[in-house]
Amino acid sequence: MDKQHQIAIIGGGIAGLTAAFYLQKEATERSLPLTIRLIEASSHIGGKIETLRTQGMVMETGPDSFLERKTSAKQLAIDLGLEQDLIRNNTGQAYILHDFKLHPIPEGSVMGIPTRLTPFVKTGLFSSAGKMRAAGDLVLSRGVRNGDISVGAFFRRRLGDEVVDRLIEPLLSGIYAGSLDHLSLEATFPQFAEMEKKHRSLILGMRKSRPQSTTGRTKGQFLTLKNGLLSFAEEIEAKLPVSSVLKNSPVRQVEVTEAGYRLHIDGRESFNVDAVILATPFKQASQLLPQITWSLPPNDLPATSVATVLLAYDEQQVPLKVDGTGFVVPRGEDTTITACTWTHRKWPHTVPKGKGLIRCYVGRSGDEAIVEEPDEVIVAQVQKDLKRILSIDGSPEFTLVTRWPLGMPQYTVGHVEWEKHVHEEIAPLPGLFLAGASYGGVGIPDCIDQGKQAVQNTLHFLSL
Ligand code: FAD
Repeated sequence: MDKQHQIAIIGGGIAGLTAAFYLQKEATERSLPLTIRLIEASSHIGGKIETLRTQGMVMETGPDSFLERKTSAKQLAIDLGLEQDLIRNNTGQAYILHDFKLHPIPEGSVMGIPTRLTPFVKTGLFSSAGKMRAAGDLVLSRGVRNGDISVGAFFRRRLGDEVVDRLIEPLLSGIYAGSLDHLSLEATFPQFAEMEKKHRSLILGMRKSRPQSTTGRTKGQFLTLKNGLLSFAEEIEAKLPVSSVLKNSPVRQVEVTEAGYRLHIDGRESFNVDAVILATPFKQASQLLPQITWSLPPNDLPATSVATVLLAYDEQQVPLKVDGTGFVVPRGEDTTITACTWTHRKWPHTVPKGKGLIRCYVGRSGDEAIVEEPDEVIVAQVQKDLKRILSIDGSPEFTLVTRWPLGMPQYTVGHVEWEKHVHEEIAPLPGLFLAGASYGGVGIPDCIDQGKQAVQNTLHFLSL
């Protein structure tokens, strides 16, 4: 009889869940001799995915959607039988805050790069000098680089400080709650370096390769699930054998043995496995492997703390005078909010008729103290901003603050090199694989891709 292989997946975030689902699927479809255990420290399956369903609302306290263009999340929904639940975002004008005024993102700008002259010339977001400097991109030679640089350095050279500070930084760095001047070009937006290589000018390159709708108005690029992203976790958990999901089970150590690994878990008997998929953030993963003396480059994956703040109103209390779905705030503006979504407009299915739901972010790299404040202080600051920017003055029916301490890994300059080192360090541990937001991308589809890759690596290791 074939040996029954034991596989442990540590971490019940989307990377670990994906690995568990596709491994179980392979095992069932190909009658493979696999016993899979998904081990999660907390009582919550989903990691940073957290949906709250109350008062007729579907509220996301962590991620709220995923990019359709990176196909693996949509595919996972389909594979889970959730295709009917996929919902695309409502589009509309998006805004940038500057001097407490909301400026529409100039039509034709794609990820902040202008591709149409008239809206760019007409916008009040930049000074004439700033616009002239950005136009310099059309004549500037290709940059000469030796290794990785920051996204900020790259864009500042091509388009100048003003366009970077007022448009590109809030749009691009928001994904990481990071600073554009520290984020790695190679690890976060390598496509722009490629564009410069191919077309020299970003404006010309973007014009040639821009999507059909440059305003993003006709078709939203993001998808979510009708009952919230937590449906991913719920559906996967429901499809796994009950005994294979261990909650409230913090792994303390992954001990290397002659035959594989022995897992030491708080409050449980230790047990042996043949292979391990380690899908926790890197910091926790490294602590589980005391036998490795990590010698990594100095940019040891910093992380930023953020909080999301939900404010639910009677819709009459949120008389938004502008079209659209929300705004982002550049660094240096005198606000606590870093981004704000008018959820009842962007995702109307999540809010009952007659209600309004505003979702704000606070905290970003270098400016995280607010996340430590008590809820009342955070909510008061957010309300002060909303009053000044949107004239929202009424009392919310309820509010919810969710903190994500060190929740946003920062892919700083040299990250790709750092990741290479991490993989070299664990190479002597056969059958142990890493996955998740610390490595090849922070977005939900990136984490799903990594979970799937870990499945392939595990099956290959077990010669299955
Ligand atoms: P996690 O979700 O962090 O899961 C790791 C799990 O490991 C946790 O459940 C943890 O409890 C567990 N664990 C840790 N240590 C142990 C241990 N010793 N033993 C057992 N278990 C352990 N991405 C998007 O695509 N779209 C968005 O809109 C978006 N918005 C975001 C908003 C916020 C506020 C945040 C914080 C992130 C957002 N992201 C978004 C990014 C994305 O949500 C995350 O990168 C992704 O969910 C991380 O998944 P993961 O599986 O790598 O890790």
